[in-house]
Amino acid sequence: MAPTDHALLSASGAHRWLNCPPSAVLESREPDSSSAAAEQGTAAHTLAEWKLRRALHRAPGFKPESTWVDDEMENLTDDYVAFVQEHISLAREACGDPQVLIEQRLDFSHIVPGGFGTGDCVIIAEPTLQIIDLKYGQGVLVEAVNNPQLMLYALGALHAFGDLYDIETVAVTIYQPRRGNVDTWEVPVADLLAWAKTEVKPKAELATAGGGEFCPGSWCQFCKIAPTCRARAEANLQLAKLEFAPPAELSDAEIADVLARIPQLKTWASDVEAYALSKAVNQGVVFEGFKLVAGRSVRKYTSETDVAKAAEAAGYKDIYDRKLITLTAMEKLMGKPAFNEILGDLVTKPAGKPTLVPASDKRPALDLVSAATDFQTNK
Ligand code: SF4
Repeated sequence: MAPTDHALLSASGAHRWLNCPPSAVLESREPDSSSAAAEQGTAAHTLAEWKLRRALHRAPGFKPESTWVDDEMENLTDDYVAFVQEHISLAREACGDPQVLIEQRLDFSHIVPGGFGTGDCVIIAEPTLQIIDLKYGQGVLVEAVNNPQLMLYALGALHAFGDLYDIETVAVTIYQPRRGNVDTWEVPVADLLAWAKTEVKPKAELATAGGGEFCPGSWCQFCKIAPTCRARAEANLQLAKLEFAPPAELSDAEIADVLARIPQLKTWASDVEAYALSKAVNQGVVFEGFKLVAGRSVRKYTSETDVAKAAEAAGYKDIYDRKLITLTAMEKLMGKPAFNEILGDLVTKPAGKPTLVPASDKRPALDLVSAATDFQTNK
């Protein structure tokens, strides 16, 4: 769903307040902020909702317009609608009369005070209730397994419709097209209710009262007080304090230990830098030992048209570069089928640059031996 809910304990922030209950009250004191990614996500959701209503013959009204809508968004929201329709068909085969709810407000305030959210698509059927959530962002890969936001939505849907249908299982799906990520996780209703009782309720009580322990972790990333949080700073400084034994050079095992700490340290460091820069520029805050200076800048034309005129008037002719349009622009110009027919054999996708990621990353590990053999054979 688009990030528009403002409950103290929001579903979208559940990963954070469940892990770090005091964060909720502290965040509520900070002003709301928007970002280009959030605006783009909202535009994608609005378009997807309209297309889904149209596909299901539910008076969609006028097509929403936004400067964020581009070919990629059109294509990906079409794919999303096709995905949802496929799941509705499957639910019909199993149940006959499923209810399909679009942008449905889901109230889980019986578990979390004031708690509600909006389900992009909820398919209520027997024996499985489905929640499908479109994530248009691509910065962070979102997983369905134990995803508290979708689990809370599921609790809201069960509370509203559980008496009308015989639901045994909930299936939650993250549809994150720009990461090629479609992830579904099924959980028995009994497990979900147990989680609500033993985990969510007590944490929600603590969080509402501003109590509980600060607990830094990956959930700090979108916390509004992340740059100034003392617990996070202490944890990161502790992370950086590796005690290395002699000899003089690090072993591979020690390098692996450092590698594991780098992403978190980098995120924290850039959060603090961005926060301090904003304070210095916008509020004139002076941090001892630091000053604001102008960064490097590059010369540029004030007007390309005027430059061309002036250069041509002076007798210079060879002043333009002629370049082939990009692959994406060419595909847009020709359309996918013609592009594949005319240029398919002339397009190649080189292997990506090797990147070191944690072993838990979902991408398959590079087979360096086969890659080297292929290289030798093709020489
Ligand atoms: S930055 Fe992390 S540790 Fe600090 S309040 Fe936010 S979630 Fe909790």
